[in-house]
Amino acid sequence: MNFTPIIAANWKMHKTPNESVKFYENLKGSFENLINVEIILSVPFTSLSSFDAEPPIFKAAQNCHWEESGAYTGEISVQMIKELGTKYVILGHSERRHIFGEKNRDINLKVVSVLKSGLKPILCVGETLSDRENNDTEKVLDDQLKRALKNIKDIDNIIIAYEPVWAIGTGLTADENQIELAHLKIKEILFGLYPKSQHIHVLYGGSVKPKNAKNLIRVPGVSGFLIGGASLDVNSFTSIIKNVNII
Ligand code: PEP
Repeated sequence: MNFTPIIAANWKMHKTPNESVKFYENLKGSFENLINVEIILSVPFTSLSSFDAEPPIFKAAQNCHWEESGAYTGEISVQMIKELGTKYVILGHSERRHIFGEKNRDINLKVVSVLKSGLKPILCVGETLSDRENNDTEKVLDDQLKRALKNIKDIDNIIIAYEPVWAIGTGLTADENQIELAHLKIKEILFGLYPKSQHIHVLYGGSVKPKNAKNLIRVPGVSGFLIGGASLDVNSFTSIIKNVNII
């Protein structure tokens, strides 16, 4: 691998600010030399100010609104997140799409806003089980990427996460062949849109665990992971990071 793999935790609606600080301290104390990995902790908004992350650990938010400010009760802008030392923002996670009804158009507005602020989006794409069964996986990936990236001039500051919806939080992992094909397709679409790009980070997400991380990180096209369940426990998260760090 001639780039640094990224291991991103997605805590979803888990951990209070105090629990987040404790996790961060434990995580930092778990490593002596992290030479070849970047770690991202995507924490609830309420935990963003609870610790200052030091490289190679960085903080991410899990969502944001696209406007800078305004009458949007309950929403959080990128500027608010940025002031708390955040470097990344997850956008278009399948739970936002499927539970909260986010559309590709909303996600595109958020990508534009996050890039404008100087933060980096982690853009999630992935097919549902019925998309896969109907052989629509490639069409869905193409559609989600092209709509979310509409009017975006360059991909260098964007990380893509391929997360098959049927593998998120279910214990079902896509097999290595499915992951490789999806990642190749994503890269083909993106290099088509951005032919001058050097390298595009595409993470895999969907029931990544300590026991499968070593094999999954070797799948061609996979440049890291986005991890939900297994990122909540510092021992399992650390064990995944150690499996990737030795590559
Ligand atoms: C996720 O929330 O993005 C995710 C991949 O969850 P899990 O690892 O639990 O499947």
